Amino acid sequence: MATATTTTQICRNFINGRWVESRSTRTAERRNPANLDEIVGVSPVSTREETREAIAAAKNAFTVWRDTPAPIRGRVIAKAALLMDQQKEELARILTREEGKTFKDSLGEVIKSVNILEFMTGEARRIGGETVPSELPKNFAYTIKQPLGAVAVITPWNFPVCIPVWKMAPALVAGNAVVFKPATITPLTAAKVVEIFEQAGVPAGVLNMVLGSGGEVGDELLQHPDVRAVSFTGSNEVGSELYAQGARRMKKCQCEMGGKNPLVVLADADLPLAVESAVFGAFASTGQRCTATSRVVVEEKVADKFVEMLVERTRKFKVGNGLDPGVDMGPAVDEGQFKTDLKYIEIGKKEAKLLLGGERLSGPGYDRGYFVAPTIFDHVAIESTIAQDEIFGPVLSVIRVRDFDEALHAANSVRYGLSSSIYTNDAAKIFEFIDRIETGITHVNSPTVGGEAQLPFGGMKATGIGLREMGRVAIDFYTELKTVYIDYTGRRRESTIY
Ligand code: NAP
Repeated sequence: MATATTTTQICRNFINGRWVESRSTRTAERRNPANLDEIVGVSPVSTREETREAIAAAKNAFTVWRDTPAPIRGRVIAKAALLMDQQKEELARILTREEGKTFKDSLGEVIKSVNILEFMTGEARRIGGETVPSELPKNFAYTIKQPLGAVAVITPWNFPVCIPVWKMAPALVAGNAVVFKPATITPLTAAKVVEIFEQAGVPAGVLNMVLGSGGEVGDELLQHPDVRAVSFTGSNEVGSELYAQGARRMKKCQCEMGGKNPLVVLADADLPLAVESAVFGAFASTGQRCTATSRVVVEEKVADKFVEMLVERTRKFKVGNGLDPGVDMGPAVDEGQFKTDLKYIEIGKKEAKLLLGGERLSGPGYDRGYFVAPTIFDHVAIESTIAQDEIFGPVLSVIRVRDFDEALHAANSVRYGLSSSIYTNDAAKIFEFIDRIETGITHVNSPTVGGEAQLPFGGMKATGIGLREMGRVAIDFYTELKTVYIDYTGRRRESTIY
């Protein structure tokens, strides 16, 4: 049995402006999924009591933060953008060691987070309502957006920099105080992100982080009456229950959940371009993106050619430790996800035709990590399990269809609705697709993955409920709208507004 390396970091909570050791005796150990001999961090499994302390700190800090002018709040976010940019390589390395994605993907995630911070800095000077004419003479009517109070941010492991940033930045800019609960398996990355906000000058109590389990820390955030809103990204299983419980407590909730994103290839498509996008969308980040391409829907006329090119290109995809140069795809994030990938691969072998992969990778460089071969199934039926369930691994299903209408039907025949793309140069079909595809984000002749800071991000159907994230609309979730009527005559006795 190999011994664990000693680069272990002990993680602490961040409560009321101080890094504090948890009083809990329970801990969670995090190992590098590319090399299980390397313990990258040990984090506390914090208690409900500690979560309540963080909530109290946020509630208290809110009273001052809400009265800080929004452009001044924005300066903290601007500084965080600068600091994150300066520390991007260090942060990306922590992310790769902890989550497993390639260094290039990690760096891309950090740069996107900097973009979000820059965008939200500008929004600090633009938070506003609208001024509209009143029905009454000499009456001034307008709306304002006001912060909520203490809000909770609960995030998954797959984008442990970007997702916390795209929630915390608008929450803070809008004047809220945040309690952040990151995924248990990415505590180091979360701590580094919080450290950057601390360095940027976020006042004590305005941003707090509690490390611990969803069932305890997450649940306390959901149950506590002083938490006014919960922004959650993660699985449907957790998100749907969280939303139901939040509704019972009249708590504002926003849940962004799973995806099963289709990439449609019509007969006139630029096939090399579509192949490149399918491979990148399906296997980069080990398929562990909510926007990953998990289904290719291809017109029968070009299906054989497309599939041949797809397999040939995927064979060149290099799998390994994400810190090694030239690696395109890292391991599954942990044992649970690794087993899920292999379970679905076995189901796929019964349901469809295996073209490539279909196994765990073994040998030097692979044996001590959770490496799964990029896997492609062909002749996948629309209703089959591998075409319906979110696998969240490097498994791509090819669904063959007769024509555009059948392609659209196949693309929409899942419960999820996050992202989609279509490859064609037929303008009529492009616009028809945009009209009828049931996803919150759609791409034309570009991959299903990604999203820009200044544009809304989120899904339809079972993927998302609540307001969209990112873009200008992100502020809306973290604010209440107040409608104001001012009668500046000061003399009217009877109201004529009904
Ligand atoms: P998850 O298991 O649902 O966990 C997400 C977060 O919720 C974690 O911090 C988790 O804590 C916490 N949690 C678990 N149980 C909870 C409870 N009872 N109450 C409150 N919080 C609780 O999801 P995941 O495996 O980390 O992430 C993968 C999923 O996220 C995939 O389905 C993916 O599609 C989805 N995702 C969606 C988007 C999007 O924008 N649509 C983006 C990225 C990822 P622990 O870590 O302690 O369990």
